[in-house]
Amino acid sequence: MHVGGQNHRDPFFPEFYKTCLEEVKMIFETKKSSSDGTAIIWPGTGTGGWEAALTNTLNPGDKVVTFRYGLFSHLWIDMMERLGLDVEVIDCRWGDGADEARLAEVLEKDTEKKIKAVCVVHNETTTGVTSDVGRVRETMDAFDHPAMFLVDGVSSIGALDFEFDRWKVDVAVTGSQKALSLPTGIAVVMASEKAIAASKTATSRRVYYDFADMLRTNPSGNVPYTPELQMLYGMRESLRLMREEGMENVVARHSRLGCATRKAVKAWGLETLCKDERWKSDSLTVIETPEGVDSQKIVDVAYAKYNLSLGIGLDRVKGKVFRIGHLGSMNECMLLGALSGVEMAMKDVGVNVELGSGVAAASKYLNDTAAAIPTREHMLA
Ligand code: PLP
Repeated sequence: MHVGGQNHRDPFFPEFYKTCLEEVKMIFETKKSSSDGTAIIWPGTGTGGWEAALTNTLNPGDKVVTFRYGLFSHLWIDMMERLGLDVEVIDCRWGDGADEARLAEVLEKDTEKKIKAVCVVHNETTTGVTSDVGRVRETMDAFDHPAMFLVDGVSSIGALDFEFDRWKVDVAVTGSQKALSLPTGIAVVMASEKAIAASKTATSRRVYYDFADMLRTNPSGNVPYTPELQMLYGMRESLRLMREEGMENVVARHSRLGCATRKAVKAWGLETLCKDERWKSDSLTVIETPEGVDSQKIVDVAYAKYNLSLGIGLDRVKGKVFRIGHLGSMNECMLLGALSGVEMAMKDVGVNVELGSGVAAASKYLNDTAAAIPTREHMLA
């Protein structure tokens, strides 16, 4: 990323930018490493991606259905309402994921197919819950429902299995500061042909996040306004690292990190906020603190004494949980360091935890399941 400033109207840019748009598809389709979608990259953040997804595919007054199970799903709903959409919210416990049976009830009643979009936050970063997007799609298919399928993949895409084509997602959104391990500053949107067709007639007001300006200029490798060049260099490097590791291995690494963290939580005698095995997130773990212990204190002590930055409990779960992020450019030893910091901080605030217990459980699991790093297998031959 540390390259001198360049003019994006210089001859190098079009080929460079076309490569960015092509290469980023890999993380939207981890199984096949390609996608039928069209990538659009904005200087922006995940929230901008949300806005692009909604305003390019829907008209004010359109009926949409979505789930609320954490702060991010709640904020997306707030945006939908502010954009004048008619939102039917399926409220779930914070700690649960998208309940397909409840979606089925809503879709079953929609005999006139008035619902224009189903929106799902794949990985709810407030609660450490990964919903089953494939099963949500199956539920829509069971009713032959033509609604647009919009998915927030901000804390999943590039870390967890994501199958844009197979799940027939119409717009998927991610940001640079999560699995891409970059600073904040890029919103990546993947749009299906159906979403692009909808954008030609959708009447929601939009300017900056209009697909049209991007789709007019991007095919020739151009952009309608100044691109975030350093971020694009960073993104290409992140993608190169992921390609070298192999997307299936990237997903498997996150699964191991998630599993190891959960082993530590169990060894501490604590529980994750997410109770259902099928929804437990591999990109972050959200841990409930024992009765009477303010989770904010653990986060504060970890930061003040051990230079460890944990996620705080947000909104409804403020003070009740803390979050350990384990997505992106992260390996086993980094995680074990974080787990030991958590243990020390918990002990400091009076949680009854034996130092080393979580680290021992996590490292035992990691040790039992360790294999050579894919690019270094030859060293163990
Ligand atoms: N969606 C999810 C799941 C998130 O975790 C976040 C941010 O953490 C957002 C959306 C909002 O993204 P941003 O803060 O990049 O605008």
